[in-house]
Parts: sequence; structure tokens; C-alpha cells
Amino acid sequence: MRLTFVGASGTVTGSQYLLECGGSRILIDCGLFQGYKQLRLRNWSRPPYEPRAIDAVVLTHAHIDHSGFLPRLAAQGFSRTIYSTQGTRELCRVLLPDSGRLHEEDAAFANRHGFSKHKPALPLYTEQQAEACLSQFRGVDFRQSVEVAKNIYVEFCPAGHLLGAASVRVSTREGTITFTGDLGRPNDPVMKPPDTPGPCDYLVVESTYGDRIHPPIDPEQELLDWLKPACERKGVIVIPAFAVGRTQTLLLMLARLRARNALPDLPIFMDSPMAIDATQLYRKFADEHRIDAEECRRMCSAAQITTTPEASKALDSGAGPKIILSASGMATGGRVVHHLKAFVGDKRNLILLAGFQAGGTRGAALLAGAEKIRIHGEEFPVRAQVGQLQASSSHADANELLAWMGKLPNTPKAVFVTHGEPAASDALRLRIEHELRWPAFVPESRSVHQLFDGFPP
Ligand SMILES: [Zn+2]
Repeated sequence: MRLTFVGASGTVTGSQYLLECGGSRILIDCGLFQGYKQLRLRNWSRPPYEPRAIDAVVLTHAHIDHSGFLPRLAAQGFSRTIYSTQGTRELCRVLLPDSGRLHEEDAAFANRHGFSKHKPALPLYTEQQAEACLSQFRGVDFRQSVEVAKNIYVEFCPAGHLLGAASVRVSTREGTITFTGDLGRPNDPVMKPPDTPGPCDYLVVESTYGDRIHPPIDPEQELLDWLKPACERKGVIVIPAFAVGRTQTLLLMLARLRARNALPDLPIFMDSPMAIDATQLYRKFADEHRIDAEECRRMCSAAQITTTPEASKALDSGAGPKIILSASGMATGGRVVHHLKAFVGDKRNLILLAGFQAGGTRGAALLAGAEKIRIHGEEFPVRAQVGQLQASSSHADANELLAWMGKLPNTPKAVFVTHGEPAASDALRLRIEHELRWPAFVPESRSVHQLFDGFPP
């Protein structure tokens, strides 16, 4: 068995692993690189395999850094089946066309304003190409074994990170390997805790927060503590948040704060063309999360939903206080970028970051205290307050990752630590070696490892 780390090595984005076994080749995840330019450029380079020769793709979950390269792969000739859970398949139906639309809008904007070095600037893929690859999806139930290529079987295990999110256990004649995907938290307000898959010979574990412990504070109180002062100074609160998952968790917290009269009276807008679809999915996949029908209804009605571009633009003229929730979560694109242009320059306003901010993104720059940010080729001074929510992460922290690994029914031959900035991955590697006493490695990008051939030596 041969494993190639195509992406998510030395970084949190671009998740993609090539597994070759008995003449078959499968990909686990097929994500976009985001953040630093040198990473984003990798989306344009040819992958280290022939797309036509891939027998199947298996997705852990729908986030774009795990699924967003699929339309490009299909356009390059991959025509076989994409296996995922039912929830991931439905989320991808919403997210991938939107991703294609954003690529097209960015290219069109660059061409209109002439700030791209490429003439004309081209999209990585189009909305139509994204729509086209959706027919290749096959939804599989959790904990059901499916043969994805000759003698390669895959089983999805709930990962608690997002609707449909799974750890993937791959079984072959040589042995088994488990990919954690992104792991959620044991006490997430929305998702049920991650489950533990069966035994594995090798483990590939994420390490987004491999060097951090989430503070033991109440996420609702933390949110309120940020909102209150901004409301008092009549500021506009812009919360960049991934349209599916993060946004609903925030809406649930806002609905609960409102229900106990803790929240000042102010309008809340959910500005996303995908909002309605996402909300319906929470009703459909009710057994994956903890919120009952009544709270689900309250969560879904906590905000006024704007779906059209005109309604979205109108949000940029009205005065505060108000809350605008809009994607993307790291402010790399999407409607939130327009709201940042409108509101980042006024010190009454608050930009509240809600999830992990990968290096090289506007979100990371804001968090690092940048005095100005660049949007659409123009510079905007940062005068608004910038904050980050720490307690409501959808990723397990280092202790929670170790506790999850400790529940595995056996000791793996080796653990590969991926999906983290270098410091985070290495910190987790050290803890795995010292506390669990398992051999652990942080693989280089595009490195190739021969498994079962006496590895590790
Ligand atoms: Zn994710």
C-alpha cells in the first residue's frame, strides 16, 4: 500500500491523500488550497497522478478545503464515483456550485477592473463544471461498508464536525488505514460527539489545534461579551462564517441569548444565497445533531435571510447596531468581503472571526492586527475592532484529539499528523509519542510512504 500526501501537509487546507493498493488508486478528500499565494497556486498545478486513472474519490466532509478541487478534477478527466455520506453529498450540492460561481465572479471582477496579471483572468472552474460533477456522487450511510475499488472497502464513522462529517476507515487485503477528517468536539452545542472507528494499522490525524487547548469558557457568554459593547456604540457587527455549520451554531447561540433576554434588541441578518438550503438540511439530518425540532425552528428563524445580491448590497448602507453573518469564514471571498469593505474602516464596528483562520487569509491578517487589508486590488484601513471567538470551535483541541485517539481499540503501527500549521502538527506529534507512545510523523507535502513494508522501521 502506498500513501501520498498531496495536500494538507504543513498547512490546514488542500486536504487530499492518494492511496494506491493492489493496482487500484483512490483519493481521500479532494480539497482546495486556501490562504498564502504559494498555496493557492497549487490549485493550478497538475496533481501528482493522472486524474483519469483514479478509481474513486472518498470525501470526509463537505468543507471546500476538503471537497473544492472535485470540479477541477472532473474537468481534468476523472469520471468515476465520488463516495461520501448522505449529508456530505447534499451539502456539496449547495457548496460546490457556489464555489464555482465565486471563482467565476472573482475572474470577472478581475477582468473588469484589470488588476489581474492574467489576461483574461480565468476561473479555476465554473458553476456549470461544479454542477456537472455532482452526478458522480454516491451517498452512503454511516457505518456501512462499501467497496469503492477492487478489494478496497470504506466505512464512514461520525466525526461531529459538521453535518455529514466522517472519519473514513479504509480496509484492504494488506490491512486498514483510518483518516480522521476534521474531528469535532465532545461538547459541541449543535453536533453529536465524534464516534470511534474500528481498529486500524495506520492513522492519519488532523492537527488544526494540535498546539492549543480551547479555553473553558461558555461560548454564549463569550459571544455576548463581544456583542454588547459594539451594540452600545451602535456599531455594525460583521461575522465572517462558513455558510453551513458555523453560521447555524452562531444562530443557535444568538437565539438562546435572545430567548433569555440577554441580547440587546438588534436585527440579525444571514446573508448567504445558500442559507435556506442549509437550514433545510438541519431538519433533514436531525439524527446527526443534538437540537430538537423546536430549537431547530428557533435557530432557523433567528435571522432575516437575504438571498439576492440586491438585498445583500442594501445591508451595506443601513446604520448599526446590527449583526451580519456572511461567508466565507476566513474572508477569502464571498459576500462578506463586500461587507468588510463597507464596515472595516469605522471604529464603532466589530469584525468578529468565528473559526480557524489559515495563514495568508484576510481573516488571519485582521487577527494579527493588520492596519490595512487589501480587497479587490484596493487597500482599506482597519479601524473596526477585531475579535475572535475561541470557545465555539468546530475542531477538537489537542487534549480532545489525544482523548479520541486513546479510545481507538488498538495501537496503530504509525500515526501521520496532517492538516495543521507546522507548529501545531509538530506539537501534536510530540504529545502522541510521549503520552500514547505511538510512532508519529509529520509528512512533507507530496511525500510518498510505502506502508506495511516494515514501515515504520
Ligand atoms: Zn472542515
